[in-house]
Amino acid sequence: MRGINHPRYDTYCMVAPILYGRLYFDLQKIGNAPLFNLVAMTNEYDFIIIGGGPAGMLAAGRAGERGKKVILLEKKESVGKKLLLCASGRCNVTNTAPFSTFFNAYEKAGHFMRPSLGAFSNENLRSFLSSYGVETIEESKGRVYPMSQQAESVRDALQSYLDTQRITVRKNSRVLRVKEENKQVAGVETKDGFIRGRNVLIATGGLSYPSTGSTGDGYEFAISLGHTICKTYPAIIAFETEEIWVKQVQGTPIKNVQITAFQKGNKIAQHFGEALFTHYGISGPAILSISKRIMEKFDMGAIRIHIDFKPNVALHDLDAQLVKQINSNGGKAIKTCLTYFVPEKLSPLLLSTCGIDEKKKASQITAKERKKILDQLKGLSLTISSPRPIEEAIITGGGVELNEVESRTMESKLIKGLYFAGEVLDIDGPTGGFNLQAAFSTGYLAGNSIQ
Ligand SMILES: Cc1cc2nc3c(=O)[nH]c(=O)nc-3n(C[C@H](O)[C@H](O)[C@H](O)COP(=O)(O)OP(=O)(O)OC[C@H]3O[C@@H](n4cnc5c(N)ncnc54)[C@H](O)[C@@H]3O)c2cc1C
Repeated sequence: MRGINHPRYDTYCMVAPILYGRLYFDLQKIGNAPLFNLVAMTNEYDFIIIGGGPAGMLAAGRAGERGKKVILLEKKESVGKKLLLCASGRCNVTNTAPFSTFFNAYEKAGHFMRPSLGAFSNENLRSFLSSYGVETIEESKGRVYPMSQQAESVRDALQSYLDTQRITVRKNSRVLRVKEENKQVAGVETKDGFIRGRNVLIATGGLSYPSTGSTGDGYEFAISLGHTICKTYPAIIAFETEEIWVKQVQGTPIKNVQITAFQKGNKIAQHFGEALFTHYGISGPAILSISKRIMEKFDMGAIRIHIDFKPNVALHDLDAQLVKQINSNGGKAIKTCLTYFVPEKLSPLLLSTCGIDEKKKASQITAKERKKILDQLKGLSLTISSPRPIEEAIITGGGVELNEVESRTMESKLIKGLYFAGEVLDIDGPTGGFNLQAAFSTGYLAGNSIQ
């Protein structure tokens, strides 16, 4: 039993005055210190994360797991607002495609993505979500969704990760500036004051859907710290068309069509799938899939889109099918025959582009008119006038120049302790879960790398 006779008591008596003296001295120092030093002493983090999207949350959780003192600053009232919009609220988290497909999907950023995908792959993501109670399923084209079909479950899993790792999360906390001293990150300035930290991650996303909080702040931080921003543009986007008749068929989906984009007679992109007429032009998965190719060539001349409604039927077979429809519906209006090939709403429009009266009896259609109809079924043409605004893009192309970021750590090559992850980087992939995977992988790697 310990007491005053315990040998340690003597030692205590000798050491205590020294300890108390030291404490007194420290308190004196603090008393005389300027207020900001006091704040700095109590308010210093190993890792400050700007942005509570998938990239920021994964980075925060991973650094927390490694015993780091982490604060995540999110300017909106809740984290993961854009995540909730993903795949119309179903959240296509990743893809089951092999590594090689991922590298190709990110195109020029494929090489840069190798270390982060190696550190946190599509399989790792699925296991991680499963460990937080979110089982996932694979759907067509390898797309992976939460079994719940609810993006909320993914957001909740990430929130639980932050809670488990005791990450300080400050919402409604917009970062205004990232401060560096002698090429080393020093901390961030928020509307509520300065927060000191040795490492700062910029995970502020891109420019689209600004109501979710992604308004491009990260690009400004990066520029102010000497980084280059590759020109930003809407990478997955719908298009306005010169043809105003699209308005009359807005909301009409067209399935199993082949969309081909041409410029100066050359084919620049092609995709099979679904498209959608809108009040301004054309959208839908097939259009979004080729939108990056269209954007790349946009300033180089007019771009026309051809829609093949029956891509799997050769022209002469389609002609035979049309003849059959005409023969068996001879007394009916020609527009009735066309509903065999295109949605009902579209058939009068298709006829008007051929200059044929929709009420004309099928039996009165001439061979020349039949040829015109066939041409439209195999290649209804639209001229693109402009992309929709970047605010409506699924992904922002461009961003922080990858040559200035170390792909094995996500650390800036210019400023020590400065990291980047997610859409703020010049990385974008096609639809199919590749963009969320990029955010998760780069976020994880940043959280795994900070010292
Ligand atoms: C409609 C829609 C559907 C999509 N569907 C899919 C899909 O199904 N699959 C897929 O792979 N991808 C999808 N995406 C893309 C995907 O959502 C993004 O690639 C991903 O969210 C990027 O993650 P991030 O963490 O980099 O950025 P974000 O998710 O944009 O998060 C950035 C966060 O930073 C915060 N922030 C910004 N500035 C500051 C600041 N100054 N201070 C503090 N906080 C700040 C923002 O408020 C935001 O919360 C979709 C995108 C949209 C718009």
